Amino acid sequence: MRDIQNIVILTGAGLSAESGIATFRGPGGLWEGHRVEDVCTPEALAHDPELVHRFYDARRAKLAEVAPNPAHVALARLDAEWSGQLLIVTQNVDDLHERAGANRMLHMHGELKSALCAACGDNVEWEDNLPPGTQCPNCGTPALRPDIVFFGEMPYHMDVIEAALADADLFVSIGTSGAVYPAAGFVQTARYHGAQTLELNLDPSAGSHWFGETRLGPAGTLVPEWVDAMLA
Ligand code: NAD
Ligand code: ZN
Repeated sequence: MRDIQNIVILTGAGLSAESGIATFRGPGGLWEGHRVEDVCTPEALAHDPELVHRFYDARRAKLAEVAPNPAHVALARLDAEWSGQLLIVTQNVDDLHERAGANRMLHMHGELKSALCAACGDNVEWEDNLPPGTQCPNCGTPALRPDIVFFGEMPYHMDVIEAALADADLFVSIGTSGAVYPAAGFVQTARYHGAQTLELNLDPSAGSHWFGETRLGPAGTLVPEWVDAMLA
């Protein structure tokens, strides 16, 4: 790992698993007991808004009971101390990166602590439950929904992410199964532009063979070790 200036880090649900937040594809391929199609698609939101809103209300409420783990803390330290460019792109909708102190970070799949107006497209900070029909503070339409990027919707910040990947000397993927695109394709983009690539995950991901190196183990152990080495 010599001559590295610019780093892009992609994180997924596995990073927050040791904080006590369930991953996407838990036992039986369910997310907290729900089929992904029933809580994570525009069709589900249209068909059963009560269920979808309640699901994300529960995920949002859970944030008060969890805390960043050593992997979030190590990444925040790398962000603070790394003198080159650095971007943490998270697929997670929890707020554990920012609570650990990370600054150079983007939520590509939205945030539990944000609401999105389906009418005017405004994003508003949101802490409490969000019942269907809640009025948008910007335009007044009763159209606020969870600010979560559902399957088939466009992830946030893709222009910034693509540019960072094109400039990256090192791309690191942590705790993601590599099943959800476009994030699963970032390793290929980074490689194409000449970056070294490293995967830190509990199990090999779907795209493991794309990485120059894969280290298997829990993020709470592997990430602090990797950050210590980068800052040594
Ligand atoms: P995923 O659930 O599909 O995959 C999780 C990956 O993490 C797996 O490869 C697993 O082997 C690995 N893993 C599990 N425990 C780990 C640990 N302790 N250390 C390291 N790795 C571990 O997750 P994904 O790829 O991020 O799926 C993406 C979707 O899931 C996103 O759209 C995201 O919004 C949503 N999601 C987010 C959260 C969250 O915000 N914390 C939680 C669940 C799902
Ligand atoms: Zn609005």
